[in-house]
Amino acid sequence: MDLTSYAELAVLLINSPDRLTCLEGLRALLEEGGRYRPGCRITRGDLDALRDLREELIVIFETAAGGDEDGVVDRLNSLLIQHPVQPQISGHDGERWHMHLTEGGRMADQYAVGAVMGLATLVTDLGVDRLGLCQAAPCRRAFLDTSSNRSRRYCSERCASRANVAAYRARRKGNGQ
Ligand SMILES: [Zn+2]
Ligand SMILES: [Zn+2]
Repeated sequence: MDLTSYAELAVLLINSPDRLTCLEGLRALLEEGGRYRPGCRITRGDLDALRDLREELIVIFETAAGGDEDGVVDRLNSLLIQHPVQPQISGHDGERWHMHLTEGGRMADQYAVGAVMGLATLVTDLGVDRLGLCQAAPCRRAFLDTSSNRSRRYCSERCASRANVAAYRARRKGNGQ
């Protein structure tokens, strides 16, 4: 299994505050992350737990943006303790045998285990500086920088061009035109 790709679950959670207001939204979020299984039970408790996790993940991305690698590692280590991996082989819904990181707990716990393990794997395989927050204020959406020269600064093309336009206007103003 490709654990690095699980880090996308953390990004999805950070970037979807509007989905964390009701159970319908949460279901849509889980579907988007490929984590929804028909018939699985989701409750208000899941919603609360994922909102809390989102806050903790934002702090991790902010800590990374501030260049505090030890701080990121400390926070990830404590999340790894809170959300331990308990791997199980599963073959549900006629799929091939595959690994689940955990079977226990609520939906939110399973999501958390994936997101945290994904971030931990990404950070150890590729580096803490791969965790990014969009620089096109006021956006601040999270992204994973997988560019070869680690130069990504924006969450999307849209934000990149918005920032370019703003910089161009600022330069013109500076030149007194
Ligand atoms: Zn499965
Ligand atoms: Zn952005």
